[in-house]
Formats: sequence, C-alpha cells, structure tokens
Amino acid sequence: MKNTPSRGIFFVLMKKIEHIGIAVKDLKLANEVFEKIFGKSHYKVEKVESEGVSTSFFQVGETKIELLEAVTKDSAIAKYIENRAEGIHHLAVEVDDIHAEMKRLKSEGFQFTRDEVFKGADNKLVCFIHPRTANGVLIELCQEIK
Ligand code: ZN
Repeated sequence: MKNTPSRGIFFVLMKKIEHIGIAVKDLKLANEVFEKIFGKSHYKVEKVESEGVSTSFFQVGETKIELLEAVTKDSAIAKYIENRAEGIHHLAVEVDDIHAEMKRLKSEGFQFTRDEVFKGADNKLVCFIHPRTANGVLIELCQEIK
C-alpha cells in the first residue's frame, strides 16, 4: 500500500475555522452593522499594508469574524467587490504547521494565490488556497506567530 498521510493526521493539523472574512465597502459602517448583530464591539482594527486592506475583528464564540475594507484600488478586496459584491470572502482554517500544510496541499495539486507563506493580520502567518482549486472558495490557512 502507498504510504500516504492518514486522514487522522489531516484532522489533527487542521484545528478549527479560525475566522470568516467578509469583504465590506466601508469598514466604519460595517462595524456598526456587525456590532448590532453580535451585540458587542470589534476588539481591534488593523491595517495590512501588503494586502492593501484595513481589517476589524469580532470574537464570536471560538470563531472570529474579520471585516476587510480595501484601502488601495488594486487590493484583492477592491477587485472582489468590483467584480461581485460585499459578502463572505474567505474561510480561514487554523493549522499547527502552515509550511507543512502548504507543502502537503501543493503535492495534492492545490494552487495558492502566492507561493509563499506571508504575514497577515492578527499576528498570523497566512497563505491562501486559490478558489479555482477549491470549488470556488478562497481558503486561508493561518498559524499564530509565537
Ligand atoms: Zn483572513
């Protein structure tokens, strides 16, 4: 039998849905909307220069909601809203070893939006599985920077 990683290993490495990213046109207005929905305020706002976005985070139980507003015209969020609309943009899965997971998924034929792991918002190393290889869903892998 071929020596492939068991499904058990897969589930141990993919820990949980860490957050859901939502593309918004106006972060300030969206914060007000989601404050009403969740009954509490966002706990931080953070700009990610490399991605051309400003983000805010809400903690909802174990999972976070990340609102993303474009701050540059060529950011992925600006293009997303232009081509589609505001709405759910990506799912983020927390992993123990992002480099190992990226390597494993590349060997399975998945494509990534960038070939390297990079620093994202909220003190995380991140990478994104391209939606064209994941049934139209942009999936972020993230790992806490310790
Ligand atoms: Zn994210």
